[in-house]
Amino acid sequence: LVSRKKKAEDTIININGEMVGQGEPSFIFGPCAVESQEQVTTVAEAIGGKGLKMIRGGAYKPRTSPYDFQGLGLEGLKMLKKAADQYNLAVVSEIVTPHHLEEALDYVDVVQVGARNMQNFELLKAVGSINKPVLLKRGMSATIEEFINAAEYIIASGNSQIILCERGIRTYEKATRNTLDISAVPILKQETHLPVFVDVTHSTGRRDLLLPAAKAAIAIGADGVMAEVHPDPAVALSDAQQQMNLPQFDEYYDSLMKFMKQY
Ligand code: PEP
Ligand code: MN
Repeated sequence: LVSRKKKAEDTIININGEMVGQGEPSFIFGPCAVESQEQVTTVAEAIGGKGLKMIRGGAYKPRTSPYDFQGLGLEGLKMLKKAADQYNLAVVSEIVTPHHLEEALDYVDVVQVGARNMQNFELLKAVGSINKPVLLKRGMSATIEEFINAAEYIIASGNSQIILCERGIRTYEKATRNTLDISAVPILKQETHLPVFVDVTHSTGRRDLLLPAAKAAIAIGADGVMAEVHPDPAVALSDAQQQMNLPQFDEYYDSLMKFMKQY
């Protein structure tokens, strides 16, 4: 059902008035994790000030170590929703288990399925039965075919509002956190009718690569870019190495807008 052969036209998803997949790139910015009301409100103000429509922030964090910050859970979602409402933003946030889905839906507009859960088939079926867009991230060791099959689980359960998100894959290369598989973008666009995003933060894991990676994503035809923004990355409770602070975010966004005008 996700195949171009089944449906030739691009799927366009209306998120808070933004027509994702319609041609113009969309953007999802926000902190790695929700840490406090003040933190998310500050970031929401910066995002809203640019006329953008979405904010991200993890409340249920899938961390590699059980001793790392696990996220604020439902309380975090409430904080994010409050900040988002103030600046007319849609909330994009990761859900890690079907058990959290129902309580989260009051606060989340776009349900993110993270890389570690790309093949959590029960979660895929659960998000397939809701009437909200799903941002599905590529598993860190998933082939493109497996990625497409994960999206198929969601659409087969009844939900066709799916955004695919390339977020880097595991290779032997250590210069970046993951290896951004940029060619996945046009392949996914050819094989499916779904919008395709690139998460430049988790793919590169490097602040200095966020801009060139986003340019590459847009140039190769991505429908959107995701990147992490935090008021004070040095003290962030997760992903301190790779988030932009607010002045960096301003500069980043300006540079991307200039880049896009060249087309
Ligand atoms: C995230 O976007 O917050 C995240 C954990 O990313 P990924 O699932 O791609 O690692
Ligand atoms: Mn992160």
